[in-house]
Amino acid sequence: MTNFIQQEIDNDLKAGKYVNGIVTRFPPEPNGYLHIGHAKSVCLNFGLANFNNGVCNLRFDDTNPTKEDVEYVDSIQEDIKWLGFDWGDRKFFASDYFSKLYDYAVELTRRGLAYVDDLSAEEIKAYRGTLTEPGKESPCRNRSVEENLNLFARMKAGEFADGEKVLRAKIDMASPNINMRDPVIYRITRTTHHHTGDEWLIYPMYDFAHPLEDAIEGITHSVCTLEFEDHRPFYDWLLDSLGFDVNSRPRQIEFARLDLTNTITSKRKLRQLVEEKHVRGWDDPRMPTLSGMRRRGFTPAAIRDFCERIGVAKSNSLVDVAMLEHCVREDLNKNADRVMAVLNPLKVVLTNVTGTEYLYAENHPSRSASRYVPFTREIFIERDDFMEEAPKKFFRLKPGGEVRLKYAYIIKCNEVVKDAAGNVIELHCTIDPTSKQGGETANRKIKGTIHWVSAEHALKAEVRLYDYLLTTDERGNLPEDFIGALNPNSLIVVENALIEPSVRWTAAGTHYQFLRLGYFVVDKDTTPEHLVFNRVVGLKDSWAKVRD
Ligand code: ATP
Ligand code: MG
Repeated sequence: MTNFIQQEIDNDLKAGKYVNGIVTRFPPEPNGYLHIGHAKSVCLNFGLANFNNGVCNLRFDDTNPTKEDVEYVDSIQEDIKWLGFDWGDRKFFASDYFSKLYDYAVELTRRGLAYVDDLSAEEIKAYRGTLTEPGKESPCRNRSVEENLNLFARMKAGEFADGEKVLRAKIDMASPNINMRDPVIYRITRTTHHHTGDEWLIYPMYDFAHPLEDAIEGITHSVCTLEFEDHRPFYDWLLDSLGFDVNSRPRQIEFARLDLTNTITSKRKLRQLVEEKHVRGWDDPRMPTLSGMRRRGFTPAAIRDFCERIGVAKSNSLVDVAMLEHCVREDLNKNADRVMAVLNPLKVVLTNVTGTEYLYAENHPSRSASRYVPFTREIFIERDDFMEEAPKKFFRLKPGGEVRLKYAYIIKCNEVVKDAAGNVIELHCTIDPTSKQGGETANRKIKGTIHWVSAEHALKAEVRLYDYLLTTDERGNLPEDFIGALNPNSLIVVENALIEPSVRWTAAGTHYQFLRLGYFVVDKDTTPEHLVFNRVVGLKDSWAKVRD
């Protein structure tokens, strides 16, 4: 692992810091499902720990009771395990530290570095000043330590209404960094917490809680996204003020968040999609959540590979989603068995065929496993693979023309059958019995090869084809009005696809390449009577093309 964070760790170790080993953490707030951006953070934090023979904690940063839920706590654990990482017995909840955090707030107050303020939220905002003007001190700022301790204890005891008082750090109202202008560190809110119930009426603010949670757990490197860079001075001020040793206490290091073209990586917006039912749920295969990508058929190996390839940067940039798809395709190309399926069937009668012949078919070009596919008088081919008036370069089937059926024979189209409206409903063809693929007689060379299924043996399947939920502008940015810009064709359901019978007993989560069509995965909605597949990605790799 080489990235600037690892270099910082190396420097720290050389300087004799962190003699007890490296400890990182992944600190999700349980207010939504994990998405591809979180995957980058998971891979980075667990990756740094593994690389340095250290450990990585899973910490639920649940200090904001209003939006949090156990459903999210469960899904986050499932997703991290699925991604391939293990926190062992190191699962923590920030809410377990509420009494410790309270004690630290008391200690800070005792040291004269925090005060209880009576100003309202609006007043505090108005007093804060701007980037160009210094802030104004609150009239409560110079309360005595005794009075502050007393008021803070009474805040905890429930003597004041929600919002009536707050505890603030006492730093510098004229600081050029607005985060240092006496930030609020505790507020009163009578909300039931999913972990601590009604025990607490006061809750710590994120900027106060996070450094202390890190310190309590013995985190050495607290890795977070760039927007927290301006918060680092407070992080350090707090740990300094409470006397944590600089050689062992955590340090915050910021890296660029992951943004992807065509992809929403805001939990708030993803939640809106779910709540307003624009998608079928958090695990809708169009969602960039880990549960959505899992259901879509993206593999953990592909996502880890992607996170490794994009690296860790110090400035934000937009990554092309085609690169993620490229990683998925590369993994599935190696691992998915090949089968034949027809999404838009056209019937073909092979007039010189009788009975059923079982034809040898390899499951994968680089593995020895194989199967036999039934070949019969009536088959289905893809409607697109026939053209009545075909251009010269059309190497599939046309009237009087020939094409090879994969694993089978070369066929010739002798007759096109149409309905009263002139639609092609059936083709009559003959096979060249000497042209069997891999057969004893010399193989005739022919340009086109198409896939097919036996009409008698094929299984019906529902196939769900996905496209991006949102399309991006020329620079790859998401549109402002993302609900208005949702792609109406992001899900197309093919009700009556046909698939070869070898997949009859397949299980949810199994991957296939449907020859010539793309990679597919068996959806969890599947039953032996009703097979359901999701298209994972098509075969065409726009990322590879970009690089060539
Ligand atoms: P919120 O807006 O709700 O805070 P969040 O995406 O920051 O959303 P957290 O649960 O706080 O959600 O995130 C957990 C960890 O994942 C944090 O350390 C955060 O920095 C990291 N993370 C979140 N989004 C991304 C992203 N797009 N790229 C990289 N890391 C991310
Ligand atoms: Mg966050």
